[in-house]
Amino acid sequence: MQIKRLKLSGFKSFVEPAELRIEPGLTGVVGPNGCGKSNLLEAIRWVMGENSPKSMRSGGMEDVIFAGTESRPPRDFAEVILHAEDDHGEELDVTRRIERGAGSAYRVNGSDVRAKDVSLTFADAATGAHSPALVSQGKIAQVIAAKPAERRQMLEEAAGIAGLHVRRRDAESK
Ligand code: ATP
Ligand code: MG
Repeated sequence: MQIKRLKLSGFKSFVEPAELRIEPGLTGVVGPNGCGKSNLLEAIRWVMGENSPKSMRSGGMEDVIFAGTESRPPRDFAEVILHAEDDHGEELDVTRRIERGAGSAYRVNGSDVRAKDVSLTFADAATGAHSPALVSQGKIAQVIAAKPAERRQMLEEAAGIAGLHVRRRDAESK
């Protein structure tokens, strides 16, 4: 799967709608401290279904919504749209939106879907919020220090079989 475009609005420091093109190959993000590099990577994780506030560096999920500054009022929603192409050339548009007091809603190619459908879509394509393809600050050191079970999880995600565990847990609980 290849991420082609990312659109952000009201997400963390990206208060005004912003659109980024992502070219094939390795993409690095550079810029001065505090300019939003980590926020950008978090936006990719978030639209892929990340739900741990810790990996979003926030207390609660609503903290991803632009909180306002001295000169700008806070926003009441955050939205990230990821446009990708899968390995068969099919286009994929995934939207996640969170409104204050209303939680998150997901859409895939214009239809409302569950969070789980989004996670599975990415897991089957060997990517997702925890994909080793998204290298954030401190990640290299973390991989080196990982326990074998954690390293196995990374390998399974890279191999595209992480979705199978979710489906097995589902099947076993029925
Ligand atoms: P560094 O080089 O230090 O790692 P960075 O480019 O990764 O910096 P980020 O951590 O992505 O920077 O961005 C930090 C900025 O985002 C801070 O100025 C912080 O105030 C702002 N920010 C984070 N969450 C929000 C929010 N909900 N509303 C407004 N601003 C936010
Ligand atoms: Mg950073």
